Amino acid sequence: MADLTKKFDVLVIGGGNAALCAAISARRAGASVLVLEGAPKFYRGGNTRHTRNMRCAHDAATEILTGPYTEEEFWDDLLRLTGGQTDEELAKFMIKESKDILNWIVEQGVRWQPSLGGTLSLGRTNSFFLGGGRAMLNALYLTAEKLGVEVVYDAEVTDLQIEDGMFLSAKLKQPIDGASEIRASALVAAAGGFEANIEWLKEYWGEAADNFLIRGTPYNRGSILKLLLDKGVQDIGDPTQCHAVAIDARAPKFDGGIITRHDSVVFGIVVNKHAERFYDEGEDIWPKRYAIWGRLVAAQPDQIAYIIFDSSVVTSFMPTLFPPIGAPTIAELAGKLELDPIALEKTVTDFNAAVQPGTFDHTILDDCRTEGITPAKTHWARKIEHAPYLAYPVRPGITFTYLGTRVNKQSRMMMKDGKPSANMFAAGEIMAGNVLGKGYAAGIGMTIGSVFGRVAGREAAKNARN
Ligand SMILES: Cc1cc2nc3c(=O)[nH]c(=O)nc-3n(C[C@H](O)[C@H](O)[C@H](O)COP(=O)(O)OP(=O)(O)OC[C@H]3O[C@@H](n4cnc5c(N)ncnc54)[C@H](O)[C@@H]3O)c2cc1C
Repeated sequence: MADLTKKFDVLVIGGGNAALCAAISARRAGASVLVLEGAPKFYRGGNTRHTRNMRCAHDAATEILTGPYTEEEFWDDLLRLTGGQTDEELAKFMIKESKDILNWIVEQGVRWQPSLGGTLSLGRTNSFFLGGGRAMLNALYLTAEKLGVEVVYDAEVTDLQIEDGMFLSAKLKQPIDGASEIRASALVAAAGGFEANIEWLKEYWGEAADNFLIRGTPYNRGSILKLLLDKGVQDIGDPTQCHAVAIDARAPKFDGGIITRHDSVVFGIVVNKHAERFYDEGEDIWPKRYAIWGRLVAAQPDQIAYIIFDSSVVTSFMPTLFPPIGAPTIAELAGKLELDPIALEKTVTDFNAAVQPGTFDHTILDDCRTEGITPAKTHWARKIEHAPYLAYPVRPGITFTYLGTRVNKQSRMMMKDGKPSANMFAAGEIMAGNVLGKGYAAGIGMTIGSVFGRVAGREAAKNARN
């Protein structure tokens, strides 16, 4: 067990990808490093446990990536998906650094595997972790421990002593081996966003937040983020912006993970509790469209919606954890969903009448579209006419929030007075808002954590040893 009474060079708060990349990088730079993970060992690794892939720029195909994804293309994607709400200098720096991460992360024990198929369409841009996020984390923990990084679990930090932008110590919720105050020369905050803190979400979303489901760890309650912002660190990002997808309404409140998500939107229509459509279900291809549906459902009455489709498309998408709700007629389906049968029949009939002839291909923006209804379905529109009729109830599934601590290219936190902090660094979700003002591109959460984690660790070590 680590001697927690001694002063460490670098204290890392958090236990996910950003924290481990920072810890390894700081240790490799010669620093003594302590990682405080708030969760018990089995649940170590926050949202990183649920991940599958990472988006990195590369100039040529690799053993596992099917073709090049240049820095320019990555930047174009990010610019479009965020609507320009990104710090250009930091984002371009991250994209450039991501090229090297493809190899660096392998040097830390992580293994890649070729892209998964299905509706993902990520084979060229995203590298998948062999064994998924947990296996990736296990490799990072193993490497960190071999290098001599000290890791303590069940070690929730509840206060930070900061004076004039300088970190002095962290207070533990419960003393561990007699220590309750941890001292270090530099801090890396990698403790995630505040998505699991429903009360905090309610400050921006009102009572609607009670109907949100949290896809990842219940331990990301934003306590470190709040402490830092209260103690003079500059904030960045809109607190209502987050990554949110539509997930099955029957999913657990926390930690449902990847298997509760639905990828069937393009194969049918989506209606709200008034049985009315409210958005173009065929707007864009999967990696670029899936992260908008959480927010769209959040804006609907009672934060509930229903994906409606028919038996002809059941085998077109990934099998789901929760079975679809089925009925022989649209009216009976409405009854099971507690929707107005007449309203749902009208919505389906109007939709079917608007569908134009076309050649269906879900891998491209095809020519199957509607005409004369609002909202239009601009691609992949096919009639819903083969009984039995089926539905999935969906709710907003919050993945992670974007409000964060402002950082510079050293991953060093910026204080409200515009000066860089003397010894505080941040990486991962806790500073994602620097790059993601809004929107999302699949796999970028892990890029942010790996790139800025590596930089934060290196810079914190340098800072501590000077
Ligand atoms: C279901 C799901 C699937 C996802 N899939 C992908 C994917 O395939 N690719 C991708 O790029 N992104 C994905 N993401 C997003 C990705 O998980 C995050 O962007 C990334 O893991 C963030 O890493 P992090 O280290 O910043 O945070 P986390 O991995 O969440 O780690 C935060 C850590 O901080 C700890 N902590 C919190 N508060 C305290 C405290 N007070 N004291 C001590 N410790 C504390 C937590 O216990 C946790 O270990 C997914 C997210 C979810 C929920």
